[in-house]
Amino acid sequence: MIGGELSAGLRPILILRLVRHCVMQPPPIEKSTRMASCKLCHKEGRLCLSHIVPEFVYAPLYDSGRKMIGFLEDREGIRSHLIQKGLRETLLCSICERHINRNFEQPNLELWRKLAAYDESANTEWKLFTTPEGSKVVLVSGVDYRSFKLMLLSILWRASVSTRHEYSEVSLGRHEKPIRRMILEGDAGPRYCYPCILFKFDEPGVILRPIRRRINGHRVYHFILTTIHVWYFVSGHIADEPIIDLALREDGVFSAIRLDPRETQLYTELRRLERETKHSRSVVRRINAK
Ligand SMILES: [Zn+2]
Repeated sequence: MIGGELSAGLRPILILRLVRHCVMQPPPIEKSTRMASCKLCHKEGRLCLSHIVPEFVYAPLYDSGRKMIGFLEDREGIRSHLIQKGLRETLLCSICERHINRNFEQPNLELWRKLAAYDESANTEWKLFTTPEGSKVVLVSGVDYRSFKLMLLSILWRASVSTRHEYSEVSLGRHEKPIRRMILEGDAGPRYCYPCILFKFDEPGVILRPIRRRINGHRVYHFILTTIHVWYFVSGHIADEPIIDLALREDGVFSAIRLDPRETQLYTELRRLERETKHSRSVVRRINAK
Protein backbone atom coordinates (compact mmCIF):
# COMPACT_ATOMS: atom_id res chain seq x y z
CA MET A 1 0.00 0.00 0.00
CA ILE A 2 2.79 2.34 0.91
CA GLY A 3 4.51 1.79 -2.44
CA GLY A 4 1.33 2.44 -4.40
CA GLU A 5 0.62 5.66 -2.53
CA LEU A 6 4.17 6.77 -2.92
CA SER A 7 4.44 6.47 -6.63
CA ALA A 8 0.98 7.39 -7.85
CA GLY A 9 1.18 10.21 -10.36
CA LEU A 10 4.88 10.97 -10.10
CA ARG A 11 6.05 13.71 -12.40
CA PRO A 12 9.82 13.92 -12.40
CA ILE A 13 11.57 17.22 -12.65
CA LEU A 14 15.10 16.02 -12.13
CA ILE A 15 16.85 12.74 -12.60
CA LEU A 16 20.47 12.70 -11.88
CA ARG A 17 23.23 10.22 -11.81
CA LEU A 18 24.37 9.24 -8.38
CA VAL A 19 28.00 10.29 -8.09
CA ARG A 20 29.29 11.00 -4.63
CA HIS A 21 30.94 14.37 -4.87
CA CYS A 22 29.30 16.07 -1.95
CA VAL A 23 29.57 19.82 -1.56
CA MET A 24 29.03 20.31 2.14
CA GLN A 25 29.76 24.03 2.39
CA PRO A 26 26.75 26.35 2.14
CA PRO A 27 26.68 28.23 -1.16
CA PRO A 28 27.19 32.00 -0.98
CA ILE A 29 23.99 34.01 -0.75
CA GLU A 30 23.20 35.53 -4.13
CA LYS A 31 21.03 38.63 -4.07
CA SER A 32 18.76 39.65 -6.87
CA THR A 33 18.30 43.31 -7.76
CA ARG A 34 14.57 43.04 -7.15
CA MET A 35 13.07 44.82 -4.15
CA ALA A 36 10.11 42.95 -2.75
CA SER A 37 8.55 41.67 0.42
CA CYS A 38 10.38 38.74 2.03
CA LYS A 39 8.06 35.74 2.19
CA LEU A 40 9.17 34.88 5.72
CA CYS A 41 9.54 38.15 7.69
CA HIS A 42 7.37 40.20 5.29
CA LYS A 43 9.88 43.09 5.38
CA GLU A 44 10.67 44.97 2.20
CA GLY A 45 14.18 44.50 0.85
CA ARG A 46 16.43 43.05 -1.79
CA LEU A 47 15.64 39.38 -1.95
CA CYS A 48 18.02 36.47 -2.37
CA LEU A 49 17.86 33.75 -4.95
CA SER A 50 16.65 31.16 -2.47
CA HIS A 51 16.73 27.44 -2.88
CA ILE A 52 13.43 25.68 -2.31
CA VAL A 53 15.21 22.38 -1.61
CA PRO A 54 18.58 23.13 0.08
CA GLU A 55 21.62 22.78 -2.17
CA PHE A 56 23.14 20.10 0.08
CA VAL A 57 20.24 17.78 -0.78
CA TYR A 58 21.35 17.95 -4.42
CA ALA A 59 24.99 17.35 -3.47
CA PRO A 60 25.16 13.56 -4.17
CA LEU A 61 23.68 14.14 -7.61
CA TYR A 62 26.45 16.27 -9.10
CA ASP A 63 29.06 14.57 -11.20
CA SER A 64 32.77 15.29 -10.84
CA GLY A 65 32.41 18.37 -13.06
CA ARG A 66 29.67 19.65 -10.77
CA LYS A 67 26.91 19.20 -13.28
CA MET A 68 23.67 17.26 -13.02
CA ILE A 69 21.04 16.34 -15.54
CA GLY A 70 17.69 18.05 -15.36
CA PHE A 71 14.55 16.91 -17.16
CA LEU A 72 11.95 19.38 -18.28
CA GLU A 73 8.51 18.24 -19.30
CA ASP A 74 6.41 20.54 -21.49
CA ARG A 75 3.92 20.27 -24.34
CA GLU A 76 6.62 19.17 -26.74
CA GLY A 77 7.71 16.30 -24.52
CA ILE A 78 10.58 15.70 -22.13
CA ARG A 79 13.97 17.27 -22.74
CA SER A 80 17.15 16.85 -20.74
CA HIS A 81 19.81 19.47 -20.13
CA LEU A 82 22.79 20.06 -17.86
CA ILE A 83 22.26 22.18 -14.78
CA GLN A 84 24.68 23.56 -12.20
CA LYS A 85 22.37 24.45 -9.33
CA GLY A 86 19.15 23.27 -7.77
CA LEU A 87 15.91 25.11 -8.41
CA ARG A 88 15.81 28.65 -6.98
CA GLU A 89 13.56 31.66 -6.78
CA THR A 90 13.66 35.14 -5.19
CA LEU A 91 11.87 34.44 -1.92
CA LEU A 92 13.77 35.55 1.19
CA CYS A 93 15.79 38.48 2.49
CA SER A 94 19.39 37.75 3.48
CA ILE A 95 18.52 37.72 7.21
CA CYS A 96 15.85 35.04 6.74
CA GLU A 97 18.08 33.13 4.33
CA ARG A 98 20.81 33.04 6.99
CA HIS A 99 18.25 32.17 9.73
CA ILE A 100 17.16 29.02 7.91
CA ASN A 101 20.67 28.11 6.83
CA ARG A 102 22.42 28.58 10.19
CA ASN A 103 19.71 27.38 12.53
CA PHE A 104 18.12 24.50 10.63
CA GLU A 105 20.20 23.41 7.63
CA GLN A 106 23.80 23.62 8.85
CA PRO A 107 23.17 21.63 12.07
CA ASN A 108 21.69 18.78 9.99
CA LEU A 109 24.10 18.52 7.04
CA GLU A 110 25.90 15.54 8.51
CA LEU A 111 22.71 13.74 9.56
CA TRP A 112 21.22 14.18 6.09
CA ARG A 113 24.41 12.96 4.39
CA LYS A 114 24.55 9.94 6.68
CA LEU A 115 20.92 9.03 6.11
CA ALA A 116 21.10 9.55 2.33
CA ALA A 117 24.14 7.24 2.16
CA TYR A 118 22.90 4.82 4.85
CA ASP A 119 24.25 1.30 4.51
CA GLU A 120 22.95 -1.19 7.06
CA SER A 121 26.13 -3.30 6.91
CA ALA A 122 28.35 -0.32 7.78
CA ASN A 123 26.12 1.57 10.21
CA THR A 124 26.07 0.11 13.69
CA GLU A 125 24.80 3.25 15.34
CA TRP A 126 21.18 3.05 14.19
CA LYS A 127 19.14 -0.05 14.94
CA LEU A 128 17.52 -1.91 12.07
CA PHE A 129 14.47 -4.07 12.77
CA THR A 130 11.70 -5.82 10.91
CA THR A 131 8.05 -5.18 11.79
CA PRO A 132 5.52 -8.07 12.14
CA GLU A 133 4.23 -7.04 8.67
CA GLY A 134 7.73 -7.57 7.24
CA SER A 135 8.75 -3.94 6.71
CA LYS A 136 12.37 -3.04 7.47
CA VAL A 137 12.72 0.02 9.65
CA VAL A 138 15.81 2.04 10.62
CA LEU A 139 15.56 3.56 14.07
CA VAL A 140 17.43 6.84 13.69
CA SER A 141 18.54 8.38 16.98
CA GLY A 142 20.55 11.33 18.23
CA VAL A 143 18.63 13.84 16.14
CA ASP A 144 18.11 17.44 17.19
CA TYR A 145 14.30 17.50 17.13
CA ARG A 146 13.81 21.23 16.76
CA SER A 147 16.32 22.03 14.02
CA PHE A 148 15.70 18.86 11.96
CA LYS A 149 11.93 19.19 11.99
CA LEU A 150 12.12 22.88 11.11
CA MET A 151 14.60 22.12 8.33
CA LEU A 152 12.09 19.65 6.87
CA LEU A 153 9.15 22.03 7.34
CA SER A 154 11.10 24.89 5.77
CA ILE A 155 11.36 22.87 2.53
CA LEU A 156 7.60 22.28 2.53
CA TRP A 157 6.87 25.93 3.29
CA ARG A 158 9.29 27.25 0.63
CA ALA A 159 7.64 24.93 -1.92
CA SER A 160 4.26 26.32 -0.92
CA VAL A 161 5.25 29.99 -1.29
CA SER A 162 7.17 29.29 -4.49
CA THR A 163 5.58 30.28 -7.78
CA ARG A 164 7.68 27.80 -9.78
CA HIS A 165 5.52 25.35 -11.70
CA GLU A 166 7.54 22.41 -10.31
CA TYR A 167 5.94 23.09 -6.92
CA SER A 168 2.44 23.85 -8.12
CA GLU A 169 0.93 20.92 -6.20
CA VAL A 170 2.17 22.26 -2.87
CA SER A 171 -0.30 24.73 -1.43
CA LEU A 172 -0.57 24.86 2.34
CA GLY A 173 -3.58 27.17 2.44
CA ARG A 174 -4.57 28.00 6.03
CA HIS A 175 -1.57 25.99 7.30
CA GLU A 176 0.94 28.28 5.57
CA LYS A 177 0.70 30.99 8.22
CA PRO A 178 1.27 28.78 11.32
CA ILE A 179 4.17 26.95 9.62
CA ARG A 180 5.71 30.30 8.64
CA ARG A 181 5.46 31.39 12.29
CA MET A 182 7.11 28.16 13.47
CA ILE A 183 10.05 28.72 11.09
CA LEU A 184 10.36 32.39 11.96
CA GLU A 185 10.27 31.78 15.72
CA GLY A 186 12.21 28.50 15.70
CA ASP A 187 9.28 26.67 17.29
CA ALA A 188 9.01 23.05 16.12
CA GLY A 189 5.84 22.35 18.12
CA PRO A 190 4.99 18.91 19.49
CA ARG A 191 5.57 15.74 17.46
CA TYR A 192 1.97 15.48 16.23
CA CYS A 193 2.06 19.05 14.88
CA TYR A 194 2.77 18.70 11.13
CA PRO A 195 4.59 15.37 11.54
CA CYS A 196 7.07 14.27 8.89
CA ILE A 197 7.51 10.57 8.05
CA LEU A 198 10.72 9.51 6.30
CA PHE A 199 11.35 6.59 3.95
CA LYS A 200 14.77 5.37 2.93
CA PHE A 201 15.53 3.96 -0.52
CA ASP A 202 18.92 2.65 -1.60
CA GLU A 203 18.56 4.18 -5.04
CA PRO A 204 18.07 5.80 -7.50
CA GLY A 205 19.53 9.31 -7.34
CA VAL A 206 16.51 11.36 -8.17
CA ILE A 207 14.58 14.43 -7.11
CA LEU A 208 10.99 14.53 -8.24
CA ARG A 209 8.31 17.13 -8.40
CA PRO A 210 6.38 16.91 -5.10
CA ILE A 211 2.84 15.61 -5.21
CA ARG A 212 -0.23 16.01 -3.04
CA ARG A 213 -2.29 13.05 -1.84
CA ARG A 214 -4.94 12.25 0.73
CA ILE A 215 -4.40 9.42 3.23
CA ASN A 216 -7.15 8.52 5.73
CA GLY A 217 -8.70 11.92 5.19
CA HIS A 218 -5.43 13.79 5.81
CA ARG A 219 -3.62 15.98 3.30
CA VAL A 220 -0.13 14.56 2.66
CA TYR A 221 2.67 15.98 0.51
CA HIS A 222 5.25 13.56 -0.91
CA PHE A 223 8.75 14.83 -1.54
CA ILE A 224 11.35 12.54 -3.14
CA LEU A 225 14.74 13.99 -2.24
CA THR A 226 17.38 11.63 -3.64
CA THR A 227 17.20 8.43 -1.56
CA ILE A 228 15.14 10.02 1.21
CA HIS A 229 11.41 10.38 0.73
CA VAL A 230 9.44 12.64 3.05
CA TRP A 231 5.72 12.52 3.71
CA TYR A 232 4.38 15.70 5.30
CA PHE A 233 1.05 15.34 7.08
CA VAL A 234 -0.69 18.69 6.94
CA SER A 235 -3.79 18.21 9.02
CA GLY A 236 -5.26 19.58 12.21
CA HIS A 237 -6.46 16.21 13.53
CA ILE A 238 -3.58 13.80 13.11
CA ALA A 239 -2.59 13.06 16.75
CA ASP A 240 -4.48 9.72 16.96
CA GLU A 241 -3.15 8.21 13.70
CA PRO A 242 -0.87 5.19 14.32
CA ILE A 243 1.54 6.31 11.59
CA ILE A 244 2.57 9.20 13.84
CA ASP A 245 4.53 6.63 15.88
CA LEU A 246 7.10 6.73 13.05
CA ALA A 247 7.53 10.51 13.08
CA LEU A 248 10.43 12.36 14.70
CA ARG A 249 9.98 12.52 18.47
CA GLU A 250 11.07 15.20 20.89
CA ASP A 251 13.73 12.80 22.26
CA GLY A 252 15.48 12.84 18.88
CA VAL A 253 14.34 9.46 17.52
CA PHE A 254 12.41 8.62 14.34
CA SER A 255 11.72 5.50 12.31
CA ALA A 256 12.64 5.51 8.62
CA ILE A 257 10.92 2.75 6.62
CA ARG A 258 13.20 1.07 4.11
CA LEU A 259 11.62 0.50 0.73
CA ASP A 260 12.81 -1.24 -2.40
CA PRO A 261 12.03 1.15 -5.28
CA ARG A 262 11.20 -1.88 -7.44
CA GLU A 263 8.21 -2.49 -5.16
CA THR A 264 6.83 0.89 -6.14
CA GLN A 265 5.91 2.38 -9.49
CA LEU A 266 8.93 4.64 -9.29
CA TYR A 267 11.02 2.49 -11.62
CA THR A 268 8.19 2.29 -14.15
CA GLU A 269 7.95 6.05 -14.14
CA LEU A 270 11.71 6.46 -14.53
CA ARG A 271 11.78 4.00 -17.43
CA ARG A 272 9.03 5.98 -19.14
CA LEU A 273 11.10 9.11 -18.68
CA GLU A 274 14.16 7.39 -20.13
CA ARG A 275 12.16 6.22 -23.15
CA GLU A 276 10.50 9.52 -23.88
CA THR A 277 13.32 11.96 -23.22
CA LYS A 278 15.05 13.84 -26.01
CA HIS A 279 18.60 14.37 -24.79
CA SER A 280 20.48 17.50 -25.68
CA ARG A 281 23.91 17.07 -27.32
CA SER A 282 25.65 18.34 -24.19
CA VAL A 283 23.94 15.66 -22.08
CA VAL A 284 24.84 12.91 -24.54
CA ARG A 285 28.48 14.06 -24.54
CA ARG A 286 28.44 14.13 -20.75
CA ILE A 287 26.98 10.64 -20.42
CA ASN A 288 29.38 9.19 -23.02
CA ALA A 289 32.36 10.74 -21.28
CA LYS A 290 31.68 8.75 -18.09
ZN1 LIG B 1 13.08 38.16 5.71
